[in-house]
Amino acid sequence: MKKLGFGLMRLPTAENGEIDVERMKVMVDEFLANGFTYFDTAWMYCNFRSEDATKQALVDRHPRDSFTLADKLHAAYLKSKDDRDGIFNEQLRKTGAGYFDYYLLHDMRAAHEKIYRELDCFSWIREKKAQGLVKEIGFSFHDNAAFLDKVLTEHPEMDFVQLQVNYLDWESDSVQSRLCCEVARKHGKPIVVMEPVKGGTLANLPAGASRLLRQAHPDWSEASWAIRFAAGLPGVRVVLSGMSSPAQMRDNLSCMKDFQPLNAEEQKLLGKVADWVRSGIAVPCTGCSYCTTGCPASIPIPDYFALYNRGDEATAADYASLAGKGGTPADCIGCGACEAVCPQELPIRAELKAVAERFAP
Ligand code: SF4
Ligand code: SF4
Repeated sequence: MKKLGFGLMRLPTAENGEIDVERMKVMVDEFLANGFTYFDTAWMYCNFRSEDATKQALVDRHPRDSFTLADKLHAAYLKSKDDRDGIFNEQLRKTGAGYFDYYLLHDMRAAHEKIYRELDCFSWIREKKAQGLVKEIGFSFHDNAAFLDKVLTEHPEMDFVQLQVNYLDWESDSVQSRLCCEVARKHGKPIVVMEPVKGGTLANLPAGASRLLRQAHPDWSEASWAIRFAAGLPGVRVVLSGMSSPAQMRDNLSCMKDFQPLNAEEQKLLGKVADWVRSGIAVPCTGCSYCTTGCPASIPIPDYFALYNRGDEATAADYASLAGKGGTPADCIGCGACEAVCPQELPIRAELKAVAERFAP
């Protein structure tokens, strides 16, 4: 399998905010034409519309055996055991896929593992595989390496794991990308990489860091450095990239079509860039938008964090312009729904307060 996967989480949008399915079709066709086959969607991606768009742009237009599709069950939407089949059957209907090549328990971490255990989701997912409705089972993971070791020890039946791996989080105390990769390899599980560009952070580097990379390879984009880093790691089966435009896709395809791993010198350079970036980020938000769906105040949370992360460059006028996109940090009622689903476990309420104090004291 070629090592680039199409993450269907940040799909191109039209002016009305809906997924631009026609543009998505162009991207899907180009992806397949270049020999790539792995697509990754989930129940709540793109405000619950990713699976429908996947049917329109991919499943209805290409032979089922010309691509593989991953989908996921998320603990946040499970209130009873009946919800497991309710969601799964609806996912089969929405995607029209007939079966899933890969099916994951989404966002495994201590709080969600408890729900998956209490609702017997581990046996349930095994049963889906036995019935032929899923070919491989796994889970995506957002916790520390010790917890990953525990889950994989208790569930050797899992075929693969999906980990957050990028050169910024490689040695991070909280994400523990390197340690998690080591645990997955110890258990002999192939790794699917998510967030290789850390929600776009590694495609928008500070000027000095960007200059360093351009000096080494003037023709490589910043994102392509990040993708190459992840794809070259031992045990990695595929690297997911949430591509939002044909241009982004072409950039990814150009580096992954005839993939060559980074050499030792290039890896060392990324270590320097990581130090540089780390020193400048205020809120390590990846822009996944899981938090926005359930926000009763409709606050475009990742947009406010992206603005905050721009530091001195960002102005009060930029802040005011975001008000047109929904609620503002001042509208936050402190319900905490956002923090319950944030895979980065960010203290969103406190950070929004800091954003408001910075721009609208
Ligand atoms: S705590 Fe604030 S930002 Fe988070 S979901 Fe509730 S209202 Fe929205
Ligand atoms: S705050 Fe958390 S859930 Fe929201 S976009 Fe950022 S990383 Fe994702």
